Amino acid sequence: MTLPSSRPDLSLREGYHSPQVDVAVRLNTNESPFPPPEAWVQALAAEATRIRYNRYPDRSATRLREALAELHRVRPEQVFCANGSNEVLQSICLAYGGPGRSAAVFEPTYALHSHIAHLTSTAVVEGRRREDFELDLADVAELNAASRPDITFLCSPNNPTGNSVDPTTAGAVLEGAAGLVVVDEAYGQFADWSAISLVDDDVPLVVTRTFSKTWSMAALRLGYLVGPAPVVAALERVALPYHLDALKQAAGCLAVRYNDEMQERVAAVVAERRRLSSALESLGVTVWPSSANFILFRPETRKAGEVWQGLVDAGVLVRDTSSWPGLSGCLRVTIGTRVEDDLFTAALEEVL
Ligand code: PMP
Repeated sequence: MTLPSSRPDLSLREGYHSPQVDVAVRLNTNESPFPPPEAWVQALAAEATRIRYNRYPDRSATRLREALAELHRVRPEQVFCANGSNEVLQSICLAYGGPGRSAAVFEPTYALHSHIAHLTSTAVVEGRRREDFELDLADVAELNAASRPDITFLCSPNNPTGNSVDPTTAGAVLEGAAGLVVVDEAYGQFADWSAISLVDDDVPLVVTRTFSKTWSMAALRLGYLVGPAPVVAALERVALPYHLDALKQAAGCLAVRYNDEMQERVAAVVAERRRLSSALESLGVTVWPSSANFILFRPETRKAGEVWQGLVDAGVLVRDTSSWPGLSGCLRVTIGTRVEDDLFTAALEEVL
């Protein structure tokens, strides 16, 4: 017997994976270095005993959407939740992309935007960022005029470069966009400005967020989007029935109650980011300014691959981004705890 072949276009694409090497210091996937508040863990354990496991969960995640709506001062109908923000992005491509439609990305940026577009048979229109990784609005306008993308992905702060979109740029992109503008704010809490302030029912803008970073809940897979109510309604049409399990909904509701503790974590990471940036600069590597919980850097004396391997050998895992468009020689390090970051800089100094 022979097995059927899968879609031929899938074999062209490599999955998006950061190697999960078993090392002591993992600074490769931009998770929070801190566990969630202990009180949250206890409260979730108590919630878990109250769930009626024989019943399907609330299909519309009503309480969770209400809690998030209150947090962002929008209406619950303007919030869509899914299993991680990657699934939110996939829902966007399913509802607004697909065969005969296109999505614009500006490289270098988060690889999953184009990856998910491809998976959903959405054509990818690729723009480039300037040398300093900012968007060139003239290039954006040109791309819009030539391709009229149905979806425009922005990432703010941009993974892996760390810079964020300012209100003027976001406004200009929105003004010129032919379709839906998606601002991926997976790292939004670490930046000074959020595009959520521009969301309205008659504005073709959605902003995606995640519980994986600031909220220290990467293991639970919860993400959401804030956008116009009619867009949320369209996304609900492509979501599978009961896609958000009851425990996750409870965890998200509880997490919102611990917003102050989450903000303390953000402040700690931002302070540590300053310290790590200076430490990297003093090692003589090129460092880009970051508004996120990671830093892009380029060792000038050794190849990125060698530096990556040298760090792994020393028990530290970072992300080798040197094969990404426009990032030759570059690596990305997640902000860890003080101790982890000191181990990283000591190992890097040794490797260099
Ligand atoms: N967007 C960006 C820019 C990211 O870097 C990530 C995580 N790597 C995600 C979305 C996905 O996050 P999650 O699915 O864990 O919510």
